[in-house]
Amino acid sequence: MGDIVVLTEPGGCTLGTGIWDPASPIAVRVFSTEPSEPLTVDLVGRRLERAFARRDRWFADGTTNAYRLCHGEGDRVPGVVVDRYDRIAVVRTDGEGAAAWLGRVVRLITPLLQERGVETLLHRVVRREGEAQAQGASVASPGNPRAEVLFGPTPPPEVTVLECGAKMVVDLWRGQKTGAFLDQRENRERVRRMASGRRVLNLFSYTGGFSTAAVLGGAEHVTSVDLAHAAHATAQSSMRANGIDPARHAFVTADAFAFLEGARRRKQSWDLILSDPPSFAPSERALQRALSAYRKLHAAAAGVLEAGGTLCAASCSSHVHARDFLTTLDDATLGRRDLSVASIFGTPPDHPIVAGWPEGQYLKFVVLV
Ligand code: SAH
Repeated sequence: MGDIVVLTEPGGCTLGTGIWDPASPIAVRVFSTEPSEPLTVDLVGRRLERAFARRDRWFADGTTNAYRLCHGEGDRVPGVVVDRYDRIAVVRTDGEGAAAWLGRVVRLITPLLQERGVETLLHRVVRREGEAQAQGASVASPGNPRAEVLFGPTPPPEVTVLECGAKMVVDLWRGQKTGAFLDQRENRERVRRMASGRRVLNLFSYTGGFSTAAVLGGAEHVTSVDLAHAAHATAQSSMRANGIDPARHAFVTADAFAFLEGARRRKQSWDLILSDPPSFAPSERALQRALSAYRKLHAAAAGVLEAGGTLCAASCSSHVHARDFLTTLDDATLGRRDLSVASIFGTPPDHPIVAGWPEGQYLKFVVLV
């Protein structure tokens, strides 16, 4: 576990070197395919330095201080994720092979983080079951946090970070992923630009990133729907941090499918609808079931969308490719012929993709107008 292994073809030709993880579906995380570039601690250090330096340029204007410093495979440091939330960083490893490298990775990133003003490093403890079921705040209780401090002062239960100039309250102890869904930053910004004067429905709203963005963009009213009651409290804190009175908006603790059914019966409708559910396809085998769930969801959402409205439908499952996802948004599924796909967006540059690693393109954000 965590050993460096060399991959060779039956003929003896070297394919690459990587980290061995026999328990994972990815048995070897390949770091290098260059015989002249063996996998060493130095190599990992150089990759991390490059990853961090790229972000220095991208986020130099200071309007965003929560972003991904290292995106695993996409930054060619497979299995290692480092996120920054202003003065706090969070490291997470995927798989037991990468976990065995945690100590070495922490030694490499500590000086890089400190020279960038990071004071605390947290380690995110991955609980697969909880993550996969996406049950939000209910999985980790205050006595059962998802993170441990590796260095620096213990952070408060909630921290406020900046995203494209907007304030965002994040629970680093119990929040999903490393605290927030940083991969939707640019899509939240897009929603901000589309929201002026509109009545907005945010399905699977979690801590209200899209909801706050919509209000900041001039939305007339925003309804946030999520199963996790605790997430709404964080969403309301975020709104207050931005000078918004959450009492002027609606927060509904409900199953999104049941909510849509009720809304249809009550003949409610919205001008802008966002849908960003948890991954419906945790594995390749679950693909068909996931596509049916997306169809049902999108049909129900289209049923409460005003004529001339905008539907933004997201999928964060790497097993659902963009082409398949689009089949859940066609005229027959939506039951109307007035919507066209205006754009399809993905992850922002701090979640880079290696072209030869299609699983990296997990996020689809389709805008229909
Ligand atoms: N859009 C959010 C992230 C959504 S994460 C953001 O930008 O931050 C998915 C959310 O869906 C979680 O908060 C989870 O509690 C919620 N959820 C899962 N199943 C649900 C269901 N059936 N109905 C409503 N919410 C659900």
